Parts: sequence; C-alpha cells; structure tokens
Amino acid sequence: MCVEGPPVTETPDQTAPSFRSDMTVELVKHSAADTDVLWAARVSTAGEASLGEMDKDPERSKGLINYLMRDRHGSPFEHNSMTFLISAPLFVFREFHRHRVGWSYNEESGRYRELQPVFYVPDETRKLVQQGRPGKYEFVAGTPAQHELTGRAMEDSYRQAYETYQELLAAGVAREVARAVLPVGLYSSMYATCNARSLMHFLGLRTQHEQARVPSFPQREIEMVGELLEGHWAALMPLTHAAFNANGRIAP
Ligand SMILES: Cc1cc2nc3c(=O)[nH]c(=O)nc-3n(C[C@H](O)[C@H](O)[C@H](O)COP(=O)(O)OP(=O)(O)OC[C@H]3O[C@@H](n4cnc5c(N)ncnc54)[C@H](O)[C@@H]3O)c2cc1C
Repeated sequence: MCVEGPPVTETPDQTAPSFRSDMTVELVKHSAADTDVLWAARVSTAGEASLGEMDKDPERSKGLINYLMRDRHGSPFEHNSMTFLISAPLFVFREFHRHRVGWSYNEESGRYRELQPVFYVPDETRKLVQQGRPGKYEFVAGTPAQHELTGRAMEDSYRQAYETYQELLAAGVAREVARAVLPVGLYSSMYATCNARSLMHFLGLRTQHEQARVPSFPQREIEMVGELLEGHWAALMPLTHAAFNANGRIAP
C-alpha cells in the first residue's frame, strides 16, 4: 500500500562548503550625477544661483568637469554618494579597508553569526605564477597541472578548516573564538559607501588601465571588485568618468 504524504523537499546542507571564483557588487542606493559636480563647482562664480546654471550648456559643463579633474580641484566631486553591497573573500576586504578617507563600511560579523562555508577558488583565467621582484612583478598563466593542484588543495583545506569550525561550535566554543581556524579565502559581505572622489582614488590604485598615467599593480581579486564598482559609477556619472580616464586616472 502506498500512503501519500507531503512532498519531500531536500533541505540544503548549510554546512557543506561551496566554492566560487567571482566577486559581486550591487549598487544598493545612490545620489550621484554629473550635475552634482557642476552645481558644487559653479557656486564659486554663481553663488546661490549655481543650481540654475546646471542645464545651460552641455559642452561647457563637460569642459568644466574636465578642467576640475585636470587641475585637481577635488572637492566638487564629493557631493554625491553611492552605497554598494559587496561580496568578496576576506583577503580582498583586508586590502579594501585600507582605504580610509571618504569610505564607510559595515561588514557581517563572525562574532554574531555563524559564518557560511563559501570559499574562493581561482578560475582558469586567473594568472597563477608570479615572476620578477617586489615592485616589478608580472603574472603569467599557470599550467593545467598548477590549476588542478590549486583548486584541489584549496578545496581540501577549506573543507578541513570548516569541519574544525563546526566541531568547535558543536562543543560549545564561542563563534568569535572558533572562527580563528577559518582561512582568508572565506567570503564575506559588506556595505561600502563612497563618493566619486574617494572611488577614483580607489580605482587609481586598485585597477590597471591603459589610460592610467601612474601604473598600479593591484591584486587581481580586488581589481575584479574595482571593475564592477567602476561599471556602476560610469553609468551614473559618465562625464566625470570620461574626464577621469582622459586625465590619466588620477583622483583630483
Ligand atoms: C598595489 C598596492 C600594494 C600595496 N601593498 C601594501 C603592503 O605591502 N603593505 C601595506 O601595509 N599596505 C599596502 N598597500 C596599501 C597602501 O599602502 C594604502 O594603505 C592603500 O592603498 C590605501 O591608500 P591611501 O592611504 O592613499 O587611501 P586612503 O586611506 O583612502 O587615504 C586617501 C588619501 O588621504 C590622505 N591621507 C589619509 N590618511 C592620511 C594620514 N594619516 N596622513 C596623511 N595623509 C593621509 C592621503 O593623501 C591618501 O592618499 C598597497 C596598496 C596597493 C595599491
């Protein structure tokens, strides 16, 4: 006899590690437009009438933004705000949080919540081999064997670390103590709020670009986050973004 019950749905195993190679950046909210630069700059000459100057002459507006960028008049680029939700490994956040000025951060807590087992493994596009000396490194593609080893070794190591974390929690050890066994490849999430000026400073240091007058050599994974941030910002402030590129990607 067959007795029908409710459909059986599999509960996903929350403790089974999963592995990712991507970073995600979501634009959560913003108040950011090229016009924010214009009214802030034009108060110098138009005073309280500067808001009315905004739509007057698009070519003049473009020229003004370019002039401000070129001559490094930075403060008009601060009257805007972008909040991003970023998901990336802990080692990326360690680098990110070195950017102190014009940035606000709030990150998930390893004290107040059980950390989820999501870990970073580089994909086949990640150049694995470093050559050269400090300050003059270049990265070249890894062999298939190096990729296979890297993926396997990382996954094994992550699994073992997370198992130990679970064992400590099960034994009653506090989350804030147990988390010490988790590696920097663990994904975390944070809100980061910045303005165009602080974002440009970040991008100048954390991305490589053919128009950059001063080359930088960022770690690829934070650069991936930077590229996603830049995509959102460029859509919001296209004239400012173009002027940033045209002037060598140096923050004003
Ligand atoms: C490729 C690369 C490699 C790096 N390697 C290392 C490393 O090996 N070890 C390491 O510790 N860090 C390293 N860093 C981090 C780096 O030293 C900076 O901490 C990080 O890039 C943030 O830059 P910032 O201080 O200019 O940014 P912010 O903190 O956002 O500051 C912005 C600007 O404000 C001014 N400012 C901020 N604070 C002060 C202050 N206290 N005094 C005076 N002026 C201030 C400066 O003009 C500064 O440029 C590296 C960064 C990059 C991009």
